[in-house]
Amino acid sequence: MARTKNVKLIRTIGLTINFGLTLAAIVGLYLEGVSWFAFGFWAVAAYFCMLTHETFYHRYFSHKSFKTGRKTQFVMGLLAELAPVRGPVFWAALHRDHHRYTDKERDPHSPSSGIWNSYMGWVYQEENIAHNYKNCADLTRYPELLVIDRLFWLPMVLSFIAIYWLGAYLATAAPALGTSGFQLLVWGGFLRVLYVVHIFAMLNLLSHLSVILPKYKQGYRNFDSPDSSRNLWWLAIFGAGVGWHNNHHRYGVYATSKVMWWEIDTTAWVIYLLEKMGLIWAVKWPPPKHIEEAKAERKRQKELRQLQRRARKNNVKDEIEAPLGGSNKEAA
Ligand SMILES: [Zn+2]
Ligand SMILES: [Zn+2]
Repeated sequence: MARTKNVKLIRTIGLTINFGLTLAAIVGLYLEGVSWFAFGFWAVAAYFCMLTHETFYHRYFSHKSFKTGRKTQFVMGLLAELAPVRGPVFWAALHRDHHRYTDKERDPHSPSSGIWNSYMGWVYQEENIAHNYKNCADLTRYPELLVIDRLFWLPMVLSFIAIYWLGAYLATAAPALGTSGFQLLVWGGFLRVLYVVHIFAMLNLLSHLSVILPKYKQGYRNFDSPDSSRNLWWLAIFGAGVGWHNNHHRYGVYATSKVMWWEIDTTAWVIYLLEKMGLIWAVKWPPPKHIEEAKAERKRQKELRQLQRRARKNNVKDEIEAPLGGSNKEAA
């Protein structure tokens, strides 16, 4: 009974964050519009939250790409909750399942369970909300993490109050900025949270879409990983490195998702900085062989493409399989 009540409550909070904030943002944009200050505040705040999510929720809590102290770990959890996609333990539990069962039935947000479920619906499913956290014993042994996991909405709400106050103060102290309490709340609060929520939602859906659409060829694969993951450059730019998803699926434990020189991963920069500051240690940077493996795979793909082109040119319908990661065939 208590469990059902809890699931209902968490689902309501989640729906309020996603749909309530969307509605509030639309109304707020209509009523308050935008100012350069509010837009700049949003850009900085949204990217900051994207970085905290990717650095702490993903590479630390989920994959343990580095080590840190107990106090720093707690602060990391709180910072990432400024734009919550639920709490750090929940996020890690579900994400570890995603890596363990990628593209399979138990993958919590595989596109094969439906577009909506992959995009956002998975957060509201009872079996996910009431996850037993058995795959997160390394995190559940810290009671303070379980407290902030349950109160995942609180840092966000407190930040909303602080941002509203800041906007209201600036409206009188610096009217030339053209902002107000509500305008800054809409941009620096609501739209900041929605940015992070939708970046991860797009990642879940678009980087694995080929599992249901074999002809889907957005992005590329550096590794012949046994799953449908693809690298999407634009998602990597806007999502602080999350878009290098095929790289990440091949070597999820590394502190960087970057492999090729053009793959920018700003989260790795943050991790590097934190390491230099002595706040984290034992960072798992990739060995050079990891790049050699990607180069070999890219070379293989190039040769296969040339073979396919030549076959088409000669009108030869031979048995060259689509080898470029469009489906799970390679995993079979
Ligand atoms: Zn994935
Ligand atoms: Zn991961």
